[in-house]
Amino acid sequence: MLRRCSISLTCALWLIGAQAKLTERRTKWDEIATSACSHELATYPWKSSEGRHDVLCKYDIALGSWVLCSTEYYITEANGRDKNMVFQWIESLCAAKWDSDNPVNLDAVLSAAESNVGMMPNKGQKIDHIVRANEDNIKLWVIALFGPVDNLDKSTLFAVLINGYWLAVLLTAAISKFFRALFRSTQPRKSGIAWIKGHITLPPLVQRHAAHFGRSVFVGLIPTRLETLVIAGYICLHVTVMCVEYHFDPLSLVSSLKIQHLLFTADRAGILAFAHLPFLVLSGGRNQLITKITGIKLKTMIGFHKWAGRFMFVDVLIHALGYYLHSLEEHYLKYAWDSPVWQSGRAGVCACGILIFFSFYFFRRRFYELFLFLHYLMAVIFIYECWRHCGNVGWMEWIYVSIGIWVLEFVLRARRIIKFGFPRATIELSGDEFIKITVPKLNSEWQSKPGQYVYLYFLRATIFWQSHPFSILHTTSDPSSQNLTFVITAKNGVTKKLRDMVKDAGTETIRIALEGPFGSSLPLWDYDSVLLLGGGTGIASMISASMLSLQVDKTRKPIWKVVWSLKSKDLLTLYGREISELIEKGIDVQVFLTSQTKEVSFTEIEMTEQSKTNDKLLLNDYRIPVAGYKRPDINSMIEEFMRLDGSLLVIGCGPPAFVDSIRSLTCEKIIENPLKVVDYKEDYQTW
Ligand SMILES: Cc1cc2nc3c(=O)[nH]c(=O)nc-3n(C[C@H](O)[C@H](O)[C@H](O)COP(=O)(O)OP(=O)(O)OC[C@H]3O[C@@H](n4cnc5c(N)ncnc54)[C@H](O)[C@@H]3O)c2cc1C
Repeated sequence: MLRRCSISLTCALWLIGAQAKLTERRTKWDEIATSACSHELATYPWKSSEGRHDVLCKYDIALGSWVLCSTEYYITEANGRDKNMVFQWIESLCAAKWDSDNPVNLDAVLSAAESNVGMMPNKGQKIDHIVRANEDNIKLWVIALFGPVDNLDKSTLFAVLINGYWLAVLLTAAISKFFRALFRSTQPRKSGIAWIKGHITLPPLVQRHAAHFGRSVFVGLIPTRLETLVIAGYICLHVTVMCVEYHFDPLSLVSSLKIQHLLFTADRAGILAFAHLPFLVLSGGRNQLITKITGIKLKTMIGFHKWAGRFMFVDVLIHALGYYLHSLEEHYLKYAWDSPVWQSGRAGVCACGILIFFSFYFFRRRFYELFLFLHYLMAVIFIYECWRHCGNVGWMEWIYVSIGIWVLEFVLRARRIIKFGFPRATIELSGDEFIKITVPKLNSEWQSKPGQYVYLYFLRATIFWQSHPFSILHTTSDPSSQNLTFVITAKNGVTKKLRDMVKDAGTETIRIALEGPFGSSLPLWDYDSVLLLGGGTGIASMISASMLSLQVDKTRKPIWKVVWSLKSKDLLTLYGREISELIEKGIDVQVFLTSQTKEVSFTEIEMTEQSKTNDKLLLNDYRIPVAGYKRPDINSMIEEFMRLDGSLLVIGCGPPAFVDSIRSLTCEKIIENPLKVVDYKEDYQTW
């Protein structure tokens, strides 16, 4: 089915492509030679009454000189092979001026010119025989005519280079993923690798990675140093290709230097902007395939998406401003303003501006669904306006590829949703804040691994179009279990609506659609010890991994410890069954309740008919030992695991500040113990 879809997509794009212009080489030496000769020869004093614009076509002596000049330059200087290319240009320029009943044979004109060429007459005399144009002047004209078209070709080349850069990033990630999997647990580690991990790949550029940074409107996420390097590489490349390889005409034969600067930078920026589209569409998608092949997390791809998008917007602005100023300089603004190209250009700039404005975090955080809707809508409008803008100009491949990627992504997503089916899920409220969703698996082939997540759609009239990511909780050690479970914290959007829906009845069933699984699984079995540090609802993947570990052969099973820091007893109640099963089956689980002291919790528990004996909370039927009523000492826990022999994997998931502190502590340990294999995986994503 997929193959059929892509074939029909290719056919559709091919048919559309037949209407619109693709990229073509703009530096055509036959055209440059012909134009340079015509510019030069048009200034000569021909013995003819024809005006400057007609003389070369209509006065046979001037025509012969032009044909001679153009073919000689084309063949000797530009290494052209086929003089008919030159003839075609001359014919296209002169056809309207020639008598259609007496076609001109340019081959014969050239032969006659070659055998009758004479000396240039003295100054002041009219020219009445074939002459050779001044070679030095021709070269100057060539420089003037070459610059603009060469700029278009170089811009196309640089556009390919920018896409090549992103492709190289993806390829490098894929190769590195392959080798990491091969040598993950090879002991001892080469100290250079520890240095790279501890100083470059893991730590954030500054301060923090998961928690947002900044104030008021300018709030964002700080990339890791490795992500920063990739982004910096892209920015350097982008700035470089915007600044180099311009061939200006210093004599300003065709246009002034100011106009050349405006035009060249505007053209360069416009082509680069266009070329960003495929990568933007690719990196803005859900990208399970990319994650699978390269190991790059969705949040990292979205980070790249944001930076590429920002620079594309800058390109769009430079292009628009450049042409606006050019039109003022050349006095054609009032003629161009209402033309389709300018109308579509203006609409494209507006769409892109709106898209960028509503992507700011202050808006996205409060109105995520509106942000998403506007983002898609403006992206569609922008691509459509680009199509209108350049349909007759060229470079349409970038548009086709972008649409192709987008359509393919939707097809793959729809396929995943249909494959899972549309079961009725049970929604239960736990306390005021938490919702447990149990989804029966209709398709037994559907499998997921710890650390993966899905997008859930709740098929109710007011919310069915929204899809939200939630981590999968594996509630049993049986991977073929027929249910999927999700534990959700009620926020202010769809999750609040769900809570309100079940508030009265306590439980409700609702038809859902599910897209996934997304994300990569955790490489748990490649290490000698695994320390899982979870905070709040971030425990889901830790429980899933621990459940799976119950299945693993004892000889292969790493030393295993789960540490869970949480505020709310409601949450503990929700996971009570799984936690007590893990403890019963010998998994070391340490629970830290941070929001209450021992005494307070005792009173509260009594009041809620839960009892606490010997530091064990009795929640419903489950007895959960509590390791402490304080925050866990993450540092000493990691240190304890560092003292164990063999390789260590630290996994963090929970509130942003919590995972940030685990990340930085693990980095410290990696640097301090360069020979020990220590890795860090974060099962937390935000964008
Ligand atoms: C990979 C991943 C796994 C997650 N797993 C869980 C989980 O197991 N349990 C849990 O309670 N939460 C989880 N979350 C968070 C959860 O997706 C959001 O809390 C939920 O989407 C909020 O929905 P809302 O409409 O009520 O949000 P709102 O109240 O409108 O917004 C709350 C916050 O959630 C963000 N948000 C809203 N919609 C989305 C969306 N579609 N995609 C990404 N972010 C969004 C907003 O930017 C805002 O910061 C996970 C998030 C990610 C990225």
